[in-house]
Amino acid sequence: MYINTRNNDVEQAVFSYKTIIDGIAPTGGLFVPTKLPKLNYQDWINKTYQDMAVEIFDALLEFDNRESIKEIVNNSYNTNFASEEITPIKKVGNVYIMELFHGPTGAFKDVALQALPHLMVKSKSLANKKEDTAILVATSGDTGKAALEGFKNIDGIKVICLYPHKGVSKMQDLQMRTTNGHNTHVIAVKGNFDDCQAMVKEIFSDENFKSQISNYTLSSANSINWGRLMPQIVYYFYSYIQLVKQNQIKINDKINICIPTGNFGNILAGYYAKEMGLPIERLICASNKNNILTDFFKTGHYDKKRDFHKTNTPSMDILVSSNLERYLFEKSNKDDKLILNLMRDLLKDGEFRIGSELLAKINKEVFAGFATETEILDTIKDVYSTYNYVLDPHTAVGYKVYQDYARQTGDTTPTLLGGTATPFKFSHTVIKAITGENMDEEKAIKQLEVLMNDYHEGVKDLEKKLILHNTTCEINEIKSEILKILS
Ligand SMILES: *Cc1c(COP(=O)(O)O)cnc(C)c1O
Repeated sequence: MYINTRNNDVEQAVFSYKTIIDGIAPTGGLFVPTKLPKLNYQDWINKTYQDMAVEIFDALLEFDNRESIKEIVNNSYNTNFASEEITPIKKVGNVYIMELFHGPTGAFKDVALQALPHLMVKSKSLANKKEDTAILVATSGDTGKAALEGFKNIDGIKVICLYPHKGVSKMQDLQMRTTNGHNTHVIAVKGNFDDCQAMVKEIFSDENFKSQISNYTLSSANSINWGRLMPQIVYYFYSYIQLVKQNQIKINDKINICIPTGNFGNILAGYYAKEMGLPIERLICASNKNNILTDFFKTGHYDKKRDFHKTNTPSMDILVSSNLERYLFEKSNKDDKLILNLMRDLLKDGEFRIGSELLAKINKEVFAGFATETEILDTIKDVYSTYNYVLDPHTAVGYKVYQDYARQTGDTTPTLLGGTATPFKFSHTVIKAITGENMDEEKAIKQLEVLMNDYHEGVKDLEKKLILHNTTCEINEIKSEILKILS
């Protein structure tokens, strides 16, 4: 059963299928499990990725039976991933990179968004919901395309994607705007990701607006939706077991994870893996120049009254990290009153503060750091010339922050680094880092294909595809654009 971060009353807990259908709780809070099951990963040495997904989904969902979970998992993870392992790991320097980007759109979001549509369809049938669903997605670049791909052509579901106009990479922009499917919609918003995300959250609590689209249930494909977060727990377990199988660690040894972070979703899935028994010691939270989380973990003061920077890691250009709410809820022993106050302060004053006791507790677990624009380019270049491995800029942020961590602490615990995107998605930046040349995206991609002797299906020949979506609007026009689509 699931409570939410702004109401911890277990009497009012809801079934997992309801959290998936609704996306966000009526209080504006985020759904979290009432209690986390502990898993016997020690027995998982011979399990495939899919086997582990079945174990984890089954432990966290009370769907009718294990067979239906198996079916969902088999439909979610098969030849749609370019690697049979789904998320293979590679040792690069002093870290093990979890390559989370072998899905159809080239970012880790595929791991969750190839599953969410199946979870959604099943949830609707369990809840006996007949009306259509409108999935609202705010994206900093990667969630959008992954959600469009996952949900396209699924009957009874429309997907509407909001992204910052001129705030994503050229490839991300093209990926979204060339999506086919009878139920996909894309809107470029003249604002940043936070504006898009704030509008989605506002719409969820706007009764007047919802009454105008009453033939639809609204839901979310962002990591505020538990159904989006849950599938991401799997690869932490899977990667851990691979480390054991490759004799890098012994079963029950401790590891760290280092995750390039934006909305705090991926790293939170790692935290939940830890709470479900995986021996994770430190969570290393890596940010770009929008380093609001680095400051927060240092001082306990979350302050979004600061400049928003557009960086070469657009998927991390976020100042309001939604899932921090879940983490603070968990670390404060599910103190919903505290969370209500913090979130009210954030909305009203653009900032909040946590007490020193809570901060000290968090700092035992989290290390936070960030990388500047030049540090990102330097890291890509160094890692390529030393290890012949090409990092995407987001993964490079994690790599750099991990080096800082290792230097400052002397900790040599084996560490999994989240490889969050394929470098092909950010070819311009990667080629600039490696060769110093500034070339347009199309040329850069060709050059990178030669350099790596590889390609990614999700961005190949994108420029030859037809642009099918062309809507651009102001922030205050979002609602009317959505009404147009849904009426
Ligand atoms: C979404 C994304 C991130 C940030 O992940 P969160 O779950 O929002 O913290 C990092 N890197 C890439 C490439 C992404 O697409």
